[in-house]
Amino acid sequence: MKFKSTLLAITTALVIFGQTAVAKDLRIGMSIDDLRLERWQKDRDIFVKKAEELGAKVFVQSANGDASSQISQIENMLNKDIDVLVIIPFNGEVLGNVISEAKKEGVKVLAYDRLINNADIDFYVSFDNEKVGELQAQSILEKKPEGNYFLMGGSPVDNNAKLFRKGQMKVLQPHIDSGKIKVVGDQWVDSWLAEKALQIMENALTANKNNIDAVVASNDATAGGAIQALSAQGLAGKVAISGQDADLAAIKRIVDGSQTMTVYKPITTLANKAAEIAVDLGKQEKISSNAVLNNGQKDVPAYLLEPVIVTKDNIEQTVIKDGFHSKQAIYK
Ligand code: BGC
Repeated sequence: MKFKSTLLAITTALVIFGQTAVAKDLRIGMSIDDLRLERWQKDRDIFVKKAEELGAKVFVQSANGDASSQISQIENMLNKDIDVLVIIPFNGEVLGNVISEAKKEGVKVLAYDRLINNADIDFYVSFDNEKVGELQAQSILEKKPEGNYFLMGGSPVDNNAKLFRKGQMKVLQPHIDSGKIKVVGDQWVDSWLAEKALQIMENALTANKNNIDAVVASNDATAGGAIQALSAQGLAGKVAISGQDADLAAIKRIVDGSQTMTVYKPITTLANKAAEIAVDLGKQEKISSNAVLNNGQKDVPAYLLEPVIVTKDNIEQTVIKDGFHSKQAIYK
C-alpha cells in the first residue's frame, strides 16, 4: 500500500506538472447504510458527481440496513484497492475492526453524516445534529407549550439519533421539570422505518387513550408513519409533530397541516463538501475543520454544516429557493 500511495503521489505530481490539478486514479469506496430512504439517494448522486468531476472513481454499495452486509461490502471495497472509504454507517458501533483493516492498508476513512464510534477514522462531515434536535423541540414547544408529549427517537444504533435526542432534551427538560409538559412515552424506531413508527404510534395512542398533544419525531420517515396512525384516529393536524430531511412527502404534509415542521439540511452542500474532503484525504492534504468530536477512541476533526428549520411560512425561501424541491412538485 506504501507502493500505492507513492504511485498516487507520482501520478498526482505528474498531473499537476501537466497543469491539470485533478486527482487522477484516486479510488473511493462509498458504503451507504440504506438507499431505500429518499435522502440517501440524493447524497449518493451528488457525491458521486462531484468526486468524479474531481477526477476520482467511486464504487457505491448499500447495505440496506444490515450491519454484517455493510462490513462485508467494505471488505470487498478494500479488495478493489481503494484509497479512501466514505462510510454512512448503519451501526456506528461495530465497524472498528474493518476500519482497522482499512487503516493498515493505508486507506483513509471519512465518516459521512453519522459518526463512527470507537474506530480510527480520519474525518467526520455532517450537520450540527444537536442543533437539529433543538430546532425540532423548539417548534413543537411553540405550538404546544403544555400537554402530553410522546418522544419518538430514531434508530438506536445511529449516533445521530442520540445527538438529535440530546438537542431535543436540552430544550424540553426545563419544561418537563416545571411540569408544563409530561412525557407519556419514549421509543426508538429500528432502522428509522415508517412502518415501525406507525405501529409505535398506534400503541402509544391506545395506551394513552388518544391523549397525546405532541410528538417529537426525529425525521420525516418516522413522522410519516406516526401521522398515518394519528390520521386513523382523526388527530392529524391536531397533534403537533416534528420531522427532519425536508422529504417531498413531508413538505406536502406541512402544506396540508398534518406535520408541524421539518429540518432542511442542504444535502448538496454536504455531499459536495464530502467529495472534496474525500479527494483531499486521498491526496494526503490537510483538511480544514470547524469542530472536533470524540468518538470514544480519538478526537475526530469534523466539518459541521448548519441545519435550517422549515415551517409553512418559509417553504418558498428555503427548499424551493435552493431547488431542493420544485414549487410545482410541492403544490400540484
Ligand atoms: C440522518 C437523517 C436521516 C436518518 C434516517 C440520520 O442519520 O442524519 O437525515 O433521516 O438518518 O436515514
